[in-house]
Amino acid sequence: MILAFCRNEESRLFLNHSKKETADEMTMSHSNAFEADMVVGLTRYLLSQGSYTTKDITIITMYTGQLLLIKNKMPKREFEGIKITSVDNFQGEENKIIIISLVRSNVADNLGFVKIENRVCVCLSRAQYGMYVFGNFDMLSRGSELWKNVVNEAKEAKELGSRLLLGCHMHQNITEIQKPEDFKNKSPTGGCRLPCKKKLNCGHICKMSCHNKDVEHKEYKCTEKCTKIFWPCNHPCPNAVMAYNVKRNAERHVCSTPEMSIKTERASGAVNTESVRGLVDCLALLCHVTTDVTNI
Ligand SMILES: [Zn+2]
Ligand SMILES: [Zn+2]
Ligand SMILES: [Zn+2]
Ligand SMILES: [Zn+2]
Repeated sequence: MILAFCRNEESRLFLNHSKKETADEMTMSHSNAFEADMVVGLTRYLLSQGSYTTKDITIITMYTGQLLLIKNKMPKREFEGIKITSVDNFQGEENKIIIISLVRSNVADNLGFVKIENRVCVCLSRAQYGMYVFGNFDMLSRGSELWKNVVNEAKEAKELGSRLLLGCHMHQNITEIQKPEDFKNKSPTGGCRLPCKKKLNCGHICKMSCHNKDVEHKEYKCTEKCTKIFWPCNHPCPNAVMAYNVKRNAERHVCSTPEMSIKTERASGAVNTESVRGLVDCLALLCHVTTDVTNI
């Protein structure tokens, strides 16, 4: 989860930078590649936490050029459902997470649309849980009274900074994000850079980098060889891969056993003993499967 400069995540955060904008001649608009990459990185990070879906996130920007740039950097298969909109089309709507890209950053201190008060107010008041604003706030406060006030307020509330701080609950550490590559390099799977190493139900260890999504490892697919045995015959499990077993819930094999006594403990706690002769439908209990006898 984002600590947002060591506050909790339900807060506003103004990320200050001085990376320059680009004028796009095709669209007669402006874009800012640094902001676009930061927006994509942050969005991916938020989605990797498991608390938000794509529907919970809205990205607002002042410029068509930036809108198109961000859209191009967000493939549908990963970001389908996220609303990316220009401030004009975003009146009166709210969302849990709002990410704003202000774009303008130039030597001439030209604020363009970002100076228009109505637009600023509309987009700064729409987040229910978290608002992340990317901009050159030094330039913005030089060029507009409104921004000067907004920035001063943010400074006082400790909501302004040049880094994102990501907190890892599992390892109790903080990851600093200052540039877009930091997301991939320092938080490859949404946690910190340390390995997860959590012991799985199958007895193996999670091989992913630290992650905040699927902490229970219910979706994680273990690819280690299974070392568990079938029940009740004690034959080794011939299957190697978890994906297969999970699909079937429990792998069965039929083996020829002269006679054996099978004890089944029901959910009620009562123990039934049955004698079985001949072919036995054996279950690979706990063989990459978390379910118990009574549920199979
Ligand atoms: Zn961690
Ligand atoms: Zn395993
Ligand atoms: Zn793990
Ligand atoms: Zn067997």
